[in-house]
Amino acid sequence: MAAQRQDTTPSQTAALDYDVIVIGAGLSGMYQLYRLRELGLKTRVFEAGTGVGGTWYWNRYPGARFDSESYSYGYSFSKELLQEWEWSEHFAGQPETLRYCNYVADKFDLRRDIQFESRVTAAIYQDETRSWQVTLTSGAQYSCRFLITAIGPLSTPTLPRIEGRDSFKGQSFHTARWPKEKVDFAGKRVAVIGTGATGIQTIQTIASEVGHLTVFQRTANWAAPLHNGKIDAATQAKIKASYPEIFARCQETFACFIHTPDPRGAFEVSDAEREANYEKLYGERGFGIWQGNFKDILIDRKANATISDFIARKIRERVKNPAVAEKLIPKNHGFGTRRVPLETFYFEVYNQDNVELVDLSETPIETITPEGIRTSARDFAFDIIIYATGFDAITGSFDAIDFRGSGGARLKEKWKHGPETYLGLMVDGFPNMMMLMGPHTALGNIPRSIEYSVDWVTGLLRFAQAKGLTFLDATPEGTAGWTDHVKALGVGLLSNEVDSWMTGINRNVEGKQTRIVARYSGSAPAYRARCDEVAANGYAELRLG
Ligand code: NAP
Repeated sequence: MAAQRQDTTPSQTAALDYDVIVIGAGLSGMYQLYRLRELGLKTRVFEAGTGVGGTWYWNRYPGARFDSESYSYGYSFSKELLQEWEWSEHFAGQPETLRYCNYVADKFDLRRDIQFESRVTAAIYQDETRSWQVTLTSGAQYSCRFLITAIGPLSTPTLPRIEGRDSFKGQSFHTARWPKEKVDFAGKRVAVIGTGATGIQTIQTIASEVGHLTVFQRTANWAAPLHNGKIDAATQAKIKASYPEIFARCQETFACFIHTPDPRGAFEVSDAEREANYEKLYGERGFGIWQGNFKDILIDRKANATISDFIARKIRERVKNPAVAEKLIPKNHGFGTRRVPLETFYFEVYNQDNVELVDLSETPIETITPEGIRTSARDFAFDIIIYATGFDAITGSFDAIDFRGSGGARLKEKWKHGPETYLGLMVDGFPNMMMLMGPHTALGNIPRSIEYSVDWVTGLLRFAQAKGLTFLDATPEGTAGWTDHVKALGVGLLSNEVDSWMTGINRNVEGKQTRIVARYSGSAPAYRARCDEVAANGYAELRLG
């Protein structure tokens, strides 16, 4: 397709505050800033928090840590950084990762272009000047030629819509808005609502500190052991020496983890071999049991049933009370069809005398009271309620900002039946706006995807600079084509038949009760190949001017 050139008018050359505004100083925004400086572009990053780190800044809840191997998660762009930084554990905890983010910000002197405590409320495209006007909560407004969203797929926390929530007299926290000060759990009666990856990490961490813990579970989740451990000096040296191989491997795998799917199907081996393989994976670190398992467990119901049955048996072995074990075994979805939480003695927590599991499918919460929580069965009194209730995922952080494109078109309106994107990076009618880790991009081991997307966006801006372009837009055909492609990739995946944040479901948010295809579910190498092709063809699929 030939690029369609738009003519430039004098008003389009009017002075703007910035060449580029980036929204968010998490892993995406920080790296994007670093790359934009190389282009010499005048850039401002607006960040709602008081510091860098995004996810790792906000999610300070007890036990927050990586589920991807630390050494496969850090930035790969700087050899020096890789050699300087030492991860202390195979799966680093949040405080260490936040230190890492700050270390990166210091090393590359990023903070001087980041404005903290600056939440963006609106971003409105100005057709006349081919620019964006960005508004902050303070009312301050700034103009820029190009707008880059680095607002994260899991960054808009949601509280449950339960009557009486504000009447509770004790302390209450959403895990993604955890206070910076240490919360004292000693002797306290604590409730946790939610048993996703966050709830599981929180529960297993605080169970030994609290006086009494009550876990309110609406849907049981499959979980498998993390097998974390310290990194000893010899392993550290080996990791540092093998970074090129580690990252090369991440480039080859389906979702950029170091784990590669087994080329065999679950029924291509004997029952004994299959069992032995599951046992081996259950004993290994990280996501291997999910990402490195038989190739058909996430698409074939019978294959999936074999791993679900294996994990169910493990839960029954680990939880002493059979009735509790049954409640902890998911019945409405198969293993791996939701994002698998990795755990450390999570199931054993339910063997403690001070821990109780409340199954909300049997006795739902009716209200939150000043003293605690009332279910259909009884009243519970608490000192602390923890909401591990998740996020308005993927599109939620876009919905929270009033994005308006050419002619005043609202992004929220355009996406009311689900996101529509071009390569997950642009949206037609929203010129000069690029999205990092927005809908329809390959997520997986996220820093790997971030680095690719940032480099792609940087390449596009370098091209615009070289050609003197002030207008970059996806075409309606390009957007429709990519959106259809992403939807087609999702057909047949068991995960797309299950309610979760991955299918856009959040029962705490109005209008998020219908499943959508918000994630790109093809392979990361295929995603990169398609995006590379667009760049290699001189971005001829875009409208340029
Ligand atoms: P989540 O997976 O969406 O889990 C939210 C939990 O809250 C679910 O158990 C949900 O139950 C429950 N819930 C929500 N509203 C409720 C209500 N009104 N009443 C009772 N229960 C309610 O959220 P998350 O655990 O924060 O995890 C989100 C994602 O963040 C993860 O999947 C992962 O990708 C990422 N994460 C990563 C890490 C890591 O890398 N280590 C750690 C944590 C999170 P239902 O299932 O019934 O809706």
